[in-house]
Amino acid sequence: MIKFEDVGKKYPNGYEGLKHINLEIEQGEFVAIIGLSGAGKSTLIRTINRMHDVTSGSLTVDGTDVMSLSGRSLRRFRRKIGMIFQSFNLITRTTVIKNVLTAFVPDMPWHRSLFGIYNENEKMKALEALDKVGILEKAFVRADQLSGGQQQRVALARTLAQNPQIILADEPVAALDPVTANQVMDDFKRINQDMKISILINIHHVDLALKYCTRVIGIRAGEIVYDGPSDKVDKEILDKIYMGGQEEEV
Ligand code: ADP
Repeated sequence: MIKFEDVGKKYPNGYEGLKHINLEIEQGEFVAIIGLSGAGKSTLIRTINRMHDVTSGSLTVDGTDVMSLSGRSLRRFRRKIGMIFQSFNLITRTTVIKNVLTAFVPDMPWHRSLFGIYNENEKMKALEALDKVGILEKAFVRADQLSGGQQQRVALARTLAQNPQIILADEPVAALDPVTANQVMDDFKRINQDMKISILINIHHVDLALKYCTRVIGIRAGEIVYDGPSDKVDKEILDKIYMGGQEEEV
């Protein structure tokens, strides 16, 4: 369980990115975080794997105080949490399978990682992960030969190879056309349902959030203004999250 208790995040310049966040997310939930640009969506999910430090309150994952971790314990903790970005973050000049295999590097002895030597078990796991997202036949194609949707699937396979308990996805479909965005959301949904991995996804497209996710968290100026089932989100709630708001320049 991910638990935020009165969490605040103040940036070094004094700006309060998050204020009084209280949340409990059970294992296996599929949660969309929606809000205007600059509302704090990215800040919120990045506190969970300590890409950002919280500055007040308590944040725990399965009872572990995230702020108490450092060095090796933090690295081990982060292995349980996959991260997916809008820009895919692949090594584009190499093959798909090699991209997925990089998931194993943190656990490998240095001499194997130095030479990129992977064992049969790692190769099988990488191929299985590609199979789960339906692009096994692309394993030996260079990543830059793939479409945006396929590249995001490779990123998802790389994350799955890590055997995560939680996946954090920061605007994973923002760079994709509507049809491809739906396909990638289908992948997230299938992974959530089949593997019981918790998924938290920041998403600009409200229609996709409501269609695919079971729970929606609406955030505005660093505060939660809605937290509930996606099928209860109506115009009044959307107004609370978005109305009269200024989209920040990004
Ligand atoms: P969102 O993901 O909803 O677009 P962010 O979480 O990226 O929003 O940002 C929330 C707010 O925090 C924004 O107003 C942004 O300008 C501010 N912010 C983000 N990073 C920093 C930083 N490093 N220093 C100061 N303010 C920041």
